[in-house]
Amino acid sequence: MNINIAVDEGIKVLRSNFISSPQLDSEILMAKIINKDRNYVLLNSNKNLSKSDFKNFRELIQKRSLGKPVAYLTNKKYFWKSEFFVTEDTLIPRPDTELIIENVLRVTKHKKKLHILDIGVGSGCILLSILKENKTFYGTGIDISKNCINITKRNAINLKVISRIKLFKSNVDKFNLGKYDLIVANPPYIKKFDIKYLERDVAEFEPKLALNGGLDGLSEIRKTIKKSSELIRKNGIFILEIGFDQKNKVIKLLKNEGFFINIIQKDLAKNDRCVVCTKL
Ligand code: GLN
Repeated sequence: MNINIAVDEGIKVLRSNFISSPQLDSEILMAKIINKDRNYVLLNSNKNLSKSDFKNFRELIQKRSLGKPVAYLTNKKYFWKSEFFVTEDTLIPRPDTELIIENVLRVTKHKKKLHILDIGVGSGCILLSILKENKTFYGTGIDISKNCINITKRNAINLKVISRIKLFKSNVDKFNLGKYDLIVANPPYIKKFDIKYLERDVAEFEPKLALNGGLDGLSEIRKTIKKSSELIRKNGIFILEIGFDQKNKVIKLLKNEGFFINIIQKDLAKNDRCVVCTKL
């Protein structure tokens, strides 16, 4: 058995199970099995594959066929400029969420030593990407999930920003520590009864805790806005990811808490996604 034949078999199995990127997924899963990167797989396709590697590869292909996302099978996802360790405890970092990073970099261009709070830090992808971009910034991350706190910690060590970060397992309501120049958040914002209509990979495998925004989708956003308004400095900036149909309601909530809306940016699919506002 060689790498090429196994990858081709993987592609066929994935395709027959209606997985949308069978070739890419098969190559990535092979790379995981032989502990190399995807380039190696492409360049060494006629190398021999051991029996046990082939068996393990087939198992991964089976799991992927049932919808389990590649990122959970490899425990890796690239976001902004770094690779993050992820598990089924964390949402898989999305390209749409990189809008938050772009905005942070734009509004903090000439700033130094800012204190940043990330509410619902998850894998750490937002906060750690920011800390990597500016070596003078300090970060605080909170999450209701202890497992997420541990995963962010692991990523912070990998990315060498652990000395500039503090992490707390906390409910957003209960957290009252510090004052922040900048607050970022990607809270759960899907309506509870809409989760089942998301793509199977998301609905069946990603953590409900990170998706479920309650009956109207806004229950965690409401808490996040209220808490941000308490913990942000005057003129501090708050950057929030929202659901595609939440713009008007979120503007109202933000104005009620004393925020001025700077911009609302659309994602690649042209949905309103990223709100940037300033505390007056
Ligand atoms: N954007 C995510 C999705 O694809 C939802 C993330 C969230 O609720 N914060 O469904």
